[in-house]
Amino acid sequence: MRFRILNKDPMFDYRESCKITEGRDLFNEDSTYKPKDEIEWWIKQIVANHSTLRCIHFRLVDTRPKSVIMQIIRATKGHPQPEVQSSRPDWTGKERSSDPYEDKLFMQDHTAESFIEMAKQRMCRRTEERTRMFMSEMVRSLRKSKDPFLKALGYCCHANCWWLGGRCPEIKSCQVRDTNKLSDAIIANYRLDYAIPLRTKQEEAEETMERR
Ligand SMILES: [Zn+2]
Repeated sequence: MRFRILNKDPMFDYRESCKITEGRDLFNEDSTYKPKDEIEWWIKQIVANHSTLRCIHFRLVDTRPKSVIMQIIRATKGHPQPEVQSSRPDWTGKERSSDPYEDKLFMQDHTAESFIEMAKQRMCRRTEERTRMFMSEMVRSLRKSKDPFLKALGYCCHANCWWLGGRCPEIKSCQVRDTNKLSDAIIANYRLDYAIPLRTKQEEAEETMERR
């Protein structure tokens, strides 16, 4: 598993785009900047997630079973760019394998935003275990990275329900008790506005059965 930043100088690129929003062009200035703790500084920038953060791109390269790659590259929020080793018989000289766990080389180009969006979904307990384990492995690897941006990013990866204080946004909640869903709070607001009676215990129980 390999992560590599594609910007030559991510700190300059990021600060340049931030300063443009303040009407200042850093390009012609001598502007080396070294925060006291670079990892903590990046954590703050990544959590704030302003659009300027999208100027930093990094690449993930790994070999994984086809079925895991499918789950990873189907996480498309923030538009990460994937490439996957082809199985074309006229290229490889052998028939396509029917084994869903056949290893393939793949890569993905990400921004911090797209990677965090993927982690939000793929770290939730609703995700298939094999994929969730791979996602955790990536996060552990980022947290051990020598690069301050990648290390900070690793610490910013959590399941969606973690960011939302334990309220799972999935249709089938990952929480043990299914009564604290985010959509329930919104449905309750809607019912209140239109004077629709709040759900009875019976209705809630039926819905939980339906979800299973
Ligand atoms: Zn969840």
